[in-house]
Amino acid sequence: MPIFWECDRCTACCRWPGQVRLTDADVTRIAAYLQLTEAEFIQGHTRINAQRNGLALLDQADGACGFLDSGGNCRIQPVKPHQCSDFPNRWNFPGFEKVCRAKPVEVSAEEWERRINAPPNPFAPLDANPLLTADKPLLPPSEKNR
Ligand code: SF4
Ligand code: SF4
Repeated sequence: MPIFWECDRCTACCRWPGQVRLTDADVTRIAAYLQLTEAEFIQGHTRINAQRNGLALLDQADGACGFLDSGGNCRIQPVKPHQCSDFPNRWNFPGFEKVCRAKPVEVSAEEWERRINAPPNPFAPLDANPLLTADKPLLPPSEKNR
């Protein structure tokens, strides 16, 4: 039976060193969710990745992801990058269980597919507006300095 790793929301993977790389589809989806243009999102929330061949999310001063809020929640949870939603089921690294609290659950192949393709958070509707609910408002760069 396949193993599905159930995320415990410990947020360790949002805090450890590294980068959250973005696909073009991630950029389009996240910008739309934040009600920003893609250019505004790229300018305000991303940097060139370490490989210099694409984009990654900005970090906070302590190295945590820029979208991790003070309550330990991802502010783009329903549309988070594939690098985030794919871990640790579609990718991981040797020994990841020592730093990730996801629980291994045996499921059928059909159930594994259903779970891996489910929205990251079925309780967070896509029309939830983080501009209204975030503890730090996510404003376009042009509005940050007003
Ligand atoms: S985008 Fe969300 S899930 Fe991904 S590292 Fe940042 S806070 Fe964590
Ligand atoms: S994937 Fe693992 S490290 Fe990341 S939040 Fe879930 S349990 Fe924690």
